[in-house]
Amino acid sequence: MFGPGEYVPDPTEGLVDVKDLPAPQLGFYSRNHKQTPCPRCGHLASRHTSDQRTVHDLGDLSTGRPVDLVVTYSSHYCADCHRHFNIDLTDLAPPGGHYTHRVIDLAVRVVVEDSVPYRPASWHLWRDHRVFVPFATIQNWVEAGGKKGARAHGRRLSGVGA
Ligand SMILES: [Zn+2]
Repeated sequence: MFGPGEYVPDPTEGLVDVKDLPAPQLGFYSRNHKQTPCPRCGHLASRHTSDQRTVHDLGDLSTGRPVDLVVTYSSHYCADCHRHFNIDLTDLAPPGGHYTHRVIDLAVRVVVEDSVPYRPASWHLWRDHRVFVPFATIQNWVEAGGKKGARAHGRRLSGVGA
């Protein structure tokens, strides 16, 4: 008889090829507006087209699969500035980034708060949150934002490494 504390290994443990991980589920998000303020002059700028980008989000623990967020966004033209720009998505993900802020924040927290080295942090994110982030990417995030964060938390980041 085994109780609820029986150890059951993660079925993906030991996989070395990312391609062998479960296929992502797709989530959909739209920020496709007819008008949005121009970031330069503040006047309302009309949409001239829309596009899509995909960002990796926290995964689905109930299915064990990662989640890719397909984001539809509008592109606008400001008639005053004669300038094209995309609607602001910086609250969702950094410009050009491949992961949502939720993933980045969590990854940095795991390293900074729990003092987990980068490689185990990568496995932690996959095992517990079903999002695959290469450890070098986590390292880049921590080093890009780490100094300020380290001061704020009063912790040293040196010695945290792969
Ligand atoms: Zn403008």
